[in-house]
Amino acid sequence: MTLPGPRPDLGLREGYHSPQVDVAVRLNTNESPLPPPPEWTARLQEELARVQWNRYPDRDATELRRALAELHGVRPDQVFAANGSNEVLQCLCLAYGGPGRAVATFEPTYALHAHIAHLTSTEAVEGRRRADFTLDLDEVADVMAAHRPTITFLCSPNNPTGMADDPTAVRTVIDTAPGLVAVDEAYGQFADWSALSLVDDGRPLVVTRTFSKTWSMAAGRLGYLIGPAEVVSSLERVALPYHLDAFKQVAGRVALQFVGQMEERVGLIVRERQRILAGLARLPVTAWPSQANFVLFRPESRKGDEVWTALLERGVLVRDTSSWPGLQGCLRVTVGTPEENGSFLAALGDVL
Ligand code: PMP
Repeated sequence: MTLPGPRPDLGLREGYHSPQVDVAVRLNTNESPLPPPPEWTARLQEELARVQWNRYPDRDATELRRALAELHGVRPDQVFAANGSNEVLQCLCLAYGGPGRAVATFEPTYALHAHIAHLTSTEAVEGRRRADFTLDLDEVADVMAAHRPTITFLCSPNNPTGMADDPTAVRTVIDTAPGLVAVDEAYGQFADWSALSLVDDGRPLVVTRTFSKTWSMAAGRLGYLIGPAEVVSSLERVALPYHLDAFKQVAGRVALQFVGQMEERVGLIVRERQRILAGLARLPVTAWPSQANFVLFRPESRKGDEVWTALLERGVLVRDTSSWPGLQGCLRVTVGTPEENGSFLAALGDVL
């Protein structure tokens, strides 16, 4: 049997994976450390009993989109939902990227923006952030003038650096972009400001969000976008028919009935984030301020990858970002439960 090779333009590009090691304290993938509320599970089971499993799901995800629209004070035709916000990003690149078009990212940032661009045969132009990881508006203007990206990706709070972009800078990018601006707010609930307030049918802005973090539903793979109705209908043209299964539509809609519990969890994570930052301040590390559910830090006395291994030996898994461009020596830790964060700080103190 002779199989064809994969598309040559995929080259040797690797996927985006973090090793899942079976350890006691897993703080490497920015999930919620807590399961969803038990009331969610009970109500979901009741609702699932009513699903007609022999029928295709509601293709328009009407009820889920209505509930999301209500949550954000927009219309349902300004909401697009998909299998995780990664699929939302893929639909954006399918609809607005493609051969002969470019998208812009400002590195270091979420690796999947450039990766999905490549997968969709879109040129990914990678501008730089400043050394302190803030957005450099001169660099943004240069990249936009030179490449005319159809999508300019921002990530706020930015993964893996943790800081949110300055609202004035985001407004400037939106006002000057030659195409769409996509603000990835996968961690938006943990931040003080959201670009959601700027979404308007007359503005080339979309904001993406996920159920994977605050809603404790990473296993369910559900994300969405809020943006102009015209963009939403373009995204519907590239999504596969019935791409959003009935289970997910129900799970997301039921989750939205527990906004109070979700906000309590966000409060806990934000308090624990401050505790981690205070703990790191007592150790020989540089840590960056965070508006997300993770913290980026760089051990100053030892190499990042050595510290990663030493933490693993103590049963604590964090993300090794030490070899990523612009992040030499850095590690990223997800905020976990108070016990997990205690174990992390104790293990790190021991290692350093
Ligand atoms: N955007 C950012 C910035 C992320 O960090 C992640 C998760 N790693 C995603 C999007 C994807 O989230 P989802 O689980 O909704 O696909």
